[in-house]
Amino acid sequence: MKLVAATLVLLATTATGAQAQETAAAPPETIVLRAAHLFDSTGTTLKDGATIVVRGDRIVSVGTGAAPPGARVIDLGDATLLPGFIDAHTHLTSQFEKDYYRGVYNRIMRFPAEQALYGAQYARRTLEAGFTTVRNVGAEDFVDIGLRNAINAGIAEGPRMLTAAHGIGSPGGHFDDYALPPDRVKPWGPIEGICSGPEACREAVRYQMKWGADLIKIAASGGVLSESDPVDVPQLTPEELAAIVSEAHKWNRKVAAHCHGDAAARLAINAGVDSIEHGSFLTEDTLKLMKSKGVYLVPTRMAVYWVSKMADTYPPKIAAKARAAAAAHGNMFKTALRLGVPIALGTDAGVYPHGMNGMEFGLMTELGMSPAAALLAGTRDGAKLLGVEADVGTLEAGKTADIVAVPGNVLSDIHGTEHPVFVMHLGHVALQKAGS
Ligand SMILES: [Zn+2]
Repeated sequence: MKLVAATLVLLATTATGAQAQETAAAPPETIVLRAAHLFDSTGTTLKDGATIVVRGDRIVSVGTGAAPPGARVIDLGDATLLPGFIDAHTHLTSQFEKDYYRGVYNRIMRFPAEQALYGAQYARRTLEAGFTTVRNVGAEDFVDIGLRNAINAGIAEGPRMLTAAHGIGSPGGHFDDYALPPDRVKPWGPIEGICSGPEACREAVRYQMKWGADLIKIAASGGVLSESDPVDVPQLTPEELAAIVSEAHKWNRKVAAHCHGDAAARLAINAGVDSIEHGSFLTEDTLKLMKSKGVYLVPTRMAVYWVSKMADTYPPKIAAKARAAAAAHGNMFKTALRLGVPIALGTDAGVYPHGMNGMEFGLMTELGMSPAAALLAGTRDGAKLLGVEADVGTLEAGKTADIVAVPGNVLSDIHGTEHPVFVMHLGHVALQKAGS
């Protein structure tokens, strides 16, 4: 009897506790955002006089109506409201140094936990630049997996991250970029994404997915910022590519292929990759093949701009590759545009200082892309490539409240995207500049 009574008392106490908690947890706040213009990414037009109602982490309505009673109203004045930007090519956990070899030294010497603290700062900077979703395509020591998990747990502030862990590539290739003596630094294997032969490459993919990769990144051809490999030749065999793509797709993971060379791109596209990153030397025929298969181009104009600007500071072999890739890239981009190859905005953040991602919009328009198309590439179309279009990429009722405001009319000044005045992520205000 005593025991039963004690249990009842305990139950009563628990019930009261739960009730108290319920009373304490206020219903989600309703926030109303107002601005002179709206680009909702459902089409190519700018609308005037926007009102977006947000409750909790969701968009309730997008229109021009009155604010519901009791809502907190944020009036952003002469600004354009847009969906939170999406960068399909970042390296949030690292950043190149002005001195290339100092960067190499840091990369070898820093502990993973130390590097993670840098990553947290870069993530915060990226969010404040208006980028509420990123596809992170390559990191070391699973620091990116840790950063994504910490952001999801509310420990660090940053964009929604889809991340690849280690990029998959061949020994001596773009992702195995330092020819360090093997008795001083342990050579990398499948756990670090480096593999020879289809079975080892399959294993490398399985390891990245085991530890939480949301997608798989590969180096189909050589790269610019690695010292020992030619920039354009294929670095994975058709058998290796087939093993990688089939293994990733079985787990419903997309494959992003770093690729400058044309022959390498054809091999990767025929193996079934979902996007080609950079694409410097791609020919018209290869771009046509991409269009027919619905393979996205992630042009990373920002990387091209930055490595051209910095070429003189790089070691001579890298400088030569940077110049050659940059010289070819502009025409490739124009051809892709003319053919209507699907394009998603990506910047290669980490090659340049984090937080300058918004420059990509302007760089794409300089080569003839319309401002509206550039905005779609960095919102709706990026969401499609990432497979998150049901949740983000447009401003519509029911979608996640990831919302950016940039000064003025964004279609008449695309560079407004470089200086957002307001950023909301998951319904939380991440940035609100004074006077807005
Ligand atoms: Zn990259």
